[in-house]
Amino acid sequence: MTLQPEFEFSPCGFCGSGQSHIVLEGPDRLLGLPGSFRIVRCADCGLLRQDPRPTAQTMIFYYPSDYDPYSIAIDDEPFFLKRIDRRYGMLKRRRAIERYCAGGRLLDVGCATGNFLYEMARSGNWEVEGVEPNAEAARYAQERFGLKIHIGDLLTVNLPERYYDVITMWNVFEHLHFPMDNLKVISSLLKPGGWFVFSIPNLNSWELNLMGKYWMGWELPRHLYYPSIGLMESMLSRFGLRIHEWKCLGGSYIAFLLSLRFWLEDVVGKTFLTRLLLSISGSLAIRIMVSPLFYFIDLLKRGSIITGFAQLNDW
Ligand SMILES: [Zn+2]
Repeated sequence: MTLQPEFEFSPCGFCGSGQSHIVLEGPDRLLGLPGSFRIVRCADCGLLRQDPRPTAQTMIFYYPSDYDPYSIAIDDEPFFLKRIDRRYGMLKRRRAIERYCAGGRLLDVGCATGNFLYEMARSGNWEVEGVEPNAEAARYAQERFGLKIHIGDLLTVNLPERYYDVITMWNVFEHLHFPMDNLKVISSLLKPGGWFVFSIPNLNSWELNLMGKYWMGWELPRHLYYPSIGLMESMLSRFGLRIHEWKCLGGSYIAFLLSLRFWLEDVVGKTFLTRLLLSISGSLAIRIMVSPLFYFIDLLKRGSIITGFAQLNDW
């Protein structure tokens, strides 16, 4: 029997309040899986969350094996432009981390098929491990890159405390059913003074203002929480984690193309014209033309994805 999703109402994962207001309703625009989903704002602390949401036990229904983050090795990427994009994206992550910590033990939570870990490992400065709940993606990371991957989620795998110099979570936090429990575990696994580096959808992004319900950052029903920068800082501080910097690491135009796709598919339809417009928008010529604009959007921290660099108190 195929798995069917089940839904549950849940209180706010930060303050525990059950009071909320509806903000948005929408479909799964990315993968087109069935259902209509809802985002609410907590009446007490203001945190946005999906409610009701798919249960943790049935959530896998919304993560098919062709979900984009479960991507093949960058070296095997058939499209030249995409290969360059992906390699450059990994390099930017590594450089951003190494400004704070030059090397050591790194754990990537939600490592998918392991491309980021592989990039870190082959630089020679890092001893790396990953945690990944999708067994198929985890096995790919083990077999293709020879990486040490713990299959499961951070709340169930058994890892050594005060052991890691850096823990990363790339576009994962917003997918978690229990964000505070995860932050607690992260703070226990980090060495004192260690770094938690993570990226989340940016509620302050220019693109959210422009695209509204079509914004790629909503990604219903896989995204469960949407913390603002201020709320994220409050959540982190509860576990002794303090933000040193917020930064947009690039890729904002690629993100914009996704929102543009959702808008076109709704307004023009899934037609040849939509495909043509998206193909033109994604061409190298257009990308070069718009790159100065998106460079400034990132510089102003108004890109769709924002990365936080938080340090654990050194006590
Ligand atoms: Zn709340």
